[in-house]
Amino acid sequence: MRATLVLLITLFLSEMSLGQVDEGWIKKAAADRLIRYVKIDTQSKEDMAQVPSTQKQFDLARVLLKELQDLGLPEARLDEKHCYVYATLPSNLSEQQTAVVPAVGFMAHMDASSSVSDANVNPIIHRDYRGGDIVLPNDTTCVITVEKNPNLLKSVGDDIITTDGTTLLAADDKAGIAEIMTAVEYMLKHPEIKHGTIKIAFTPDEEVGKGPEYFDIKGWGAKYAYTVDGGQLGELSEETFNAQAAVVTFSGKNTHPGYAKGIMVNSLYAASYFISLFPEDMKPETTEGREGYLHPYDLTGNEEQSRLKVLIRDFDMSGLEAEGKILQEMKQRTEQKFPKVKINIKITDTYRNMYSVLEKYPEVVEFAEEAMKRVGVKPILLPVRGGTDGSQLTFMGLPTPNIFAGEENPHGKLEWIPANSMVRSVQTIVNISNIWAERGAGK
Ligand SMILES: [Zn+2]
Repeated sequence: MRATLVLLITLFLSEMSLGQVDEGWIKKAAADRLIRYVKIDTQSKEDMAQVPSTQKQFDLARVLLKELQDLGLPEARLDEKHCYVYATLPSNLSEQQTAVVPAVGFMAHMDASSSVSDANVNPIIHRDYRGGDIVLPNDTTCVITVEKNPNLLKSVGDDIITTDGTTLLAADDKAGIAEIMTAVEYMLKHPEIKHGTIKIAFTPDEEVGKGPEYFDIKGWGAKYAYTVDGGQLGELSEETFNAQAAVVTFSGKNTHPGYAKGIMVNSLYAASYFISLFPEDMKPETTEGREGYLHPYDLTGNEEQSRLKVLIRDFDMSGLEAEGKILQEMKQRTEQKFPKVKINIKITDTYRNMYSVLEKYPEVVEFAEEAMKRVGVKPILLPVRGGTDGSQLTFMGLPTPNIFAGEENPHGKLEWIPANSMVRSVQTIVNISNIWAERGAGK
């Protein structure tokens, strides 16, 4: 009887993956961190020349630096000029093994989206969620509905963290930070879990596309990395859009409106005609999955000159080129209708689909898939309909796919995150580290 029991317990334990024991500890550690970090306002700002775009991002950076130092990580440092936090969790393998297992990095961004305020965030924990819509207490018009959030049903019995309805939660990407920090603490507490050199980084200005600008890839020293910045449980991305930005300038001729007959050429009419030509089936609001889009998002102007900014997005380069051609055709049609208005289109590259590089290092994504499966998470390979810091880093020589942080409805007041997704993210990070130690030698 006793022997059977011991055998059963042994079997049970061997079936469990790393990190699956101590779930309660992980849940509390990760959620406590998230709640602490979201109370620090770190909104970034568009169109600023410097990185970081806002000084308040240093408020969180300094907290994280202190916590990393308190955990005893030897190389924790803060780039005082550009607000990057770097640290190293030393390998616990033999010297010989450490030399052949590549250093692997985990990173998350400290800034919050500028779409809604993230000042004075008042996070609410809905313990033991019983199902049904969640009405946010300080603005009852803000309701997280089951209809629009079918994943809520998977979270019955779990703790759910939301805002009070007046701000962002900014779990994008403070959940990622909380999960990486908790995974580091967990690995420190459990030296029996083997890992090579693990690199940690927290970056500013991801939401304004400038995260990688001053990132010290060489000094950091990871050979491969993962951004923990994906959404729902299981998300894993090795593809991003190819992205370009177009500025379309319409030049007319202004004069006093009282004496304008036969002289004035009002650029605004040409600009609005041009906007009316955007194909209906190629808009962000009418496309999904792997479909690309053309998206006018900013218009300024007067009679003399108008300027329209357009996003061009596609997963394939041929699609991106085709979209550029559509803009040129729209320009021709507008010129035919408004021959006195001069139109100029300037297109610049923003980022490229990282898959063209990541496909050369298939193990980076394979190990992440394997890690998720070990903790009972079904990987969802999802092309990112946007960019990630990883897409730029990948082209700077650091292959960096993106894994889930677990939040839902980012960039709005209806943002929410199930505590269980945070637990699975922490376990995934721990297991990725362990799989690299097991199978990464020489890669
Ligand atoms: Zn993010």
